[in-house]
Amino acid sequence: MTRKPLVEDPNDDGIEVTGLKDWAAGVPGVLHAMRPALSAMGVARTARLLTSINQKDGFDCMSCAWPDPGRRHSAEFCENGAKAVTWEATPLTVSREFWAEHSVDDLAGRSEYWLGQQGRLTEPVYKAPGEDHYRPVSWDEAFRLAAEALNGLDHPDQASFYTSGRASNEAAFVYQLFVRAFGTNNLPDCSNMCHESTGSALVETIGVGKSTVTYEDIPQADLIIIMGQNPGTNHPRMLSALERAKRAGASIIAINPLPEAGLIRFKNPQNARGVIGKGTKMADQFCQIRLGGDGPLLQAVIQRVLAAEDAAPGTVLDHAFIEQHTSGLDELRASVADLDEQAVLRATGLTSTEIDELARRYLAADKVIVTWAMGLTQHTQAVATIKEIVNLLLLRGHMGRPGAGASPIRGHSNVQGDRTMGIWEKMPDSFMDALAAEFGFEPPRRHGLDSVDSVRAMQRGDVRFWMALGGNFVSAISDTASAEAALRGTAMTVQVSTKLNRSHGVTGDAALILPTLGRTEIDRQASGDQFITVEDTVCAVHASRGKVDPVADTLLSEVAIISRLARATLADRQPIDWAAFEADYGTIRHHISRVVPGCEDYERKVASEEGFVLPHGPRDSRTFETATGKARFTANRFEPIELEPGRLLLQTVRSHDQFNTTIYSRNDRYRGIKSGRDVVFVHPDDLAERGIADGDVIDVYSEWPGQPDRVLRGFRAVAYPTARGCAAAYFPEANVLVPLDSTARESNTPVSKAVVVRIERAAA
Ligand code: SF4
Repeated sequence: MTRKPLVEDPNDDGIEVTGLKDWAAGVPGVLHAMRPALSAMGVARTARLLTSINQKDGFDCMSCAWPDPGRRHSAEFCENGAKAVTWEATPLTVSREFWAEHSVDDLAGRSEYWLGQQGRLTEPVYKAPGEDHYRPVSWDEAFRLAAEALNGLDHPDQASFYTSGRASNEAAFVYQLFVRAFGTNNLPDCSNMCHESTGSALVETIGVGKSTVTYEDIPQADLIIIMGQNPGTNHPRMLSALERAKRAGASIIAINPLPEAGLIRFKNPQNARGVIGKGTKMADQFCQIRLGGDGPLLQAVIQRVLAAEDAAPGTVLDHAFIEQHTSGLDELRASVADLDEQAVLRATGLTSTEIDELARRYLAADKVIVTWAMGLTQHTQAVATIKEIVNLLLLRGHMGRPGAGASPIRGHSNVQGDRTMGIWEKMPDSFMDALAAEFGFEPPRRHGLDSVDSVRAMQRGDVRFWMALGGNFVSAISDTASAEAALRGTAMTVQVSTKLNRSHGVTGDAALILPTLGRTEIDRQASGDQFITVEDTVCAVHASRGKVDPVADTLLSEVAIISRLARATLADRQPIDWAAFEADYGTIRHHISRVVPGCEDYERKVASEEGFVLPHGPRDSRTFETATGKARFTANRFEPIELEPGRLLLQTVRSHDQFNTTIYSRNDRYRGIKSGRDVVFVHPDDLAERGIADGDVIDVYSEWPGQPDRVLRGFRAVAYPTARGCAAAYFPEANVLVPLDSTARESNTPVSKAVVVRIERAAA
């Protein structure tokens, strides 16, 4: 018995609010994973898929980028991984009649939840200029139409090619090759909207924009500081690794504006302690920080560390490491010498005692790991904040040794691998040189457009063709209305997708949807069944093999779609054998091994069950390819966020039943929300100060100099123990509050955290 497509789009009328849970996972987590899987896929398919997820001969979870342990359980997935598999592997499909019934405007008016519930896309569809419905077309027709649009452009830079973090290394490599052979570096990706700030900060300070920590480092740490990250919802199996670390004696400090269930207590469903016991207490210290206060907090801790060194010279800092491997300590010292403690307390909302305790824990630990996610990367001063993390770690040599390091936790399963394969608008010349030597053509050298700049270029009319390899761009980016208007102004939009989402209702003059295989499905090509490869958040690369028959035999893999589009568009313009890529992905990996640094002998290394870990200078040998040839201490200044009376700082968050823009249900179990998403979490005292009661319907206004206010109307106020002066609302609904030009300095990442808002009881 399998689910039927959803007919009515649900609203928030039946919303229930019960409050924050104080533990994560446990038996309810297992039940929440299994029930939807069984109802959507049946017993046999559920068993086949859930026993293959993240196994050595199975497929990689298509959800987050958390790594796999060397020794694996037979059930190596979390509740969210099961939801992601269920969502993709549903046997429900979108029928031909669907396209006649639903216009593009109708799709644009539907919720993400409703769209996702319609089932898998199975055949290419086309919306012709002037028409308001998609209609099925053949694959040949689809490629002809896309190629005609591309070849009709005045210049290759009039096209922009987006990549979501689900694309495999093989698809990403062929995609960037096609885009560069076509003649542009316009390769925006979802990383522009999540960890771009991390890359900017780490490349400048240590020379590599990736984690210096491996999976095995985590249980060896003495102290793990988790900043702006909610692992219980966004990387749930990280809780098992944190539990191991705690059992081995580590302390955890959580720094976050919201108390989150997974940061309080974890009931591991794979051990008795979690099933019948009380589970494991996670954070030993919880710093409930005000939004935007992370940078000043890190500076205050650094100041205390330097003061401790001054009080007992030679005993606190790792002088040998600093002397041999770093530059810039004097500048760092000067930058925090006159730090104003009162300004720090105002910025962080913490007490001096709390900061003292944090510093004491840092000083007491021999091995420290700092992890972070989008709670840090999506601020105006995100890059400077992450540089302060590096400063803190370098002071005591917490880099390039076991149990210590910097660990950005990536959101989408292969977002890091896509970058490694060349999906970046400004790949270095060394990569272009390797491409040129390998494929016999001269790739363009001028830098391309990132995500925000692609929208700006569409607004100006400079980009006329938009292609998205996966993802849901209009929901992922800020300033929803502007992004949608920009896309509607293009000549053609092309989306490679497994299921419907909001971006399919926002089209150019003409539009194509090209349906593709999912990770769970067997990828059969001329040379036999194929596997693909992915890279997780700690630089480990491994194979992924689909396990079930494709939901329809009309589907093409991403590699096949790109190869055929390249053939249709470029014909014999470049000496590249696209057909060989489609026939045998081993040919792609052969080229990867000759072009991508660190991937030498790629086929052999990924063929082993474990895969391999990419080389990483700072982690492996304390070598730092920076401007100074050393790891760089940096001096940063944080401008205080001054608020007018009555204003709050708002952040966007994901619910527990959500992965990026995909909404699995309208519940958020850990925060006690059922059957609704139009809510704003506000501290009870902040509500009371404004004369607003828990449950009142409110409007949320964001204010921008020289612009009209932006507004979210008719949301429910939820009294919640967030930090004073801070509020939270769900992504992507709250994206409308952020203008396109509000981006993080240096990284151009949309700023979805610490948005200045006022709330008012709704007029009607
Ligand atoms: S932790 Fe992430 S990668 Fe692992 S099963 Fe859960 S969602 Fe998938």
